[in-house]
Amino acid sequence: MSASATSDLATPAATGAAEAAVEAISGAAGQDVTFSLALSQDQKDIRDWVHGFAADVMRPAAHEWDEREETPWPIIQEAAKIGLYGFEGIAQFFADPTGLGLPIVNEELFWGDAGIGMSIMGTSLAVAAIFGQGSGEQIGEWIPRCFGTVDDVKVAAFCASEPNAGSDVSGVRTMAKFDEATNEWVLGGQKAWATNGGISDVHVVIASVDRELGSKGHAAFIVPMSEAKGISQGSKVSKHGLRASHTADVFLDDCRIPAGYVLGGKEKLDERIARVREGKKAKSQAAMQTFEASRPTVGAQALGIARAAYEYALDYAKEREQFGRKIIENQSIAFTLARMKLEIDAARLLVWRASWMGRNQVPFENAEGSMSKLKAGEVAVWVTERAIQVLGGNGYTREFPVERWHRDAKIYDIFEGTAEIQQLVISRAISGMHIK
Ligand SMILES: Cc1cc2nc3c(=O)[nH]c(=O)nc-3n(C[C@H](O)[C@H](O)[C@H](O)COP(=O)(O)OP(=O)(O)OC[C@H]3O[C@@H](n4cnc5c(N)ncnc54)[C@H](O)[C@@H]3O)c2cc1C
Repeated sequence: MSASATSDLATPAATGAAEAAVEAISGAAGQDVTFSLALSQDQKDIRDWVHGFAADVMRPAAHEWDEREETPWPIIQEAAKIGLYGFEGIAQFFADPTGLGLPIVNEELFWGDAGIGMSIMGTSLAVAAIFGQGSGEQIGEWIPRCFGTVDDVKVAAFCASEPNAGSDVSGVRTMAKFDEATNEWVLGGQKAWATNGGISDVHVVIASVDRELGSKGHAAFIVPMSEAKGISQGSKVSKHGLRASHTADVFLDDCRIPAGYVLGGKEKLDERIARVREGKKAKSQAAMQTFEASRPTVGAQALGIARAAYEYALDYAKEREQFGRKIIENQSIAFTLARMKLEIDAARLLVWRASWMGRNQVPFENAEGSMSKLKAGEVAVWVTERAIQVLGGNGYTREFPVERWHRDAKIYDIFEGTAEIQQLVISRAISGMHIK
């Protein structure tokens, strides 16, 4: 039907509406639009810069550090030298008003290698806790100390989990008692699974000041290894994946720290605890605040691994021949690759949405942070498993990186809230009910 035929059939009212719509659309052409998924030039520059480091420094070293199962200090130092690891770097990525700075950087780093990526980014969980809960003075003092200096690089650890408090953070048994005589906090207990635990200077430790209050009686404490006696590393964990990242138990035994080392300050903590005891509303628990803020970034890490595996499988499928043709010419392989790309892009949209909401203080209504981490984690596990399938026998060997990516991806179903716990959080948010 021609355009003139269409207008002949239209009612006068419809014609008016159509004209108004056309006018509005053509009028909008020159205007600024507030919604856009296009990256700015600055964001593209940062992405490409981090990608260069990931491709040139991390990828070539990934296999070696995975086999060594050691913290890749020389690579963290390289990252510090170029400003990728450090207070200024992380502040710059966080400062991006769209919220996309951190996810973009994390996706590229973890595309390079997840174990090394976690050695570089593991510090950021402690940083997020200090930033989210510390006073201005504490932020200024402790965040730079988490990173150290270019000549003396440090990492930091966030210690919430315990042998009997994993998904159930309210089960934390580590106690913090205040000693009025010495004006010190005295911490005692055992932390489990701490990334960088025992090899860091700054440890942010979640402890209970009043066990009867459950998670509402928790507070976050700065425990610097260089100052505090009574903190020590327990066993280092030998892991399935992320093997270049150090994970260990941390013991606190009559560990004394100054009164001012509780995040937010003792006065605020005392006020909060008093409110809880009176049955009044108080801010959410210390560990949960940190996890809520960091979930989209963790999702972006999973995306980086998934993208690495997808790209590798795509290239392989275009090269490898069986039955006289490239294996990608079989629909089953091509469709698998199509779905890999689709799932990665879908997960990225969730990650970017939650990151934007988090940065712009748009409250999560339906646990959008949990959604992003859940989806990205599941996509990473599925995509890396499919990548092994596309490579066939080669995919199953340590001669090719996809088996490492599959091992690395699995953690994204587990830490910072398991897949089941994310579903619990989402189902509670959408229903307003206490789903168990
Ligand atoms: C490599 C690595 C690094 C880590 N880094 C850190 C760190 O830096 N700091 C830190 O504090 N912790 C860290 N963790 C700990 C991590 O956060 C916990 O492992 C995770 O929260 C799960 O706890 P859990 O292992 O005790 O499992 P459990 O809580 O025992 O869960 C076991 C299973 O039961 C399921 N489950 C439990 N409760 C429910 C429920 N209510 N409904 C349905 N299913 C349920 C879980 O989903 C899971 O499948 C790390 C762990 C690993 C493996």
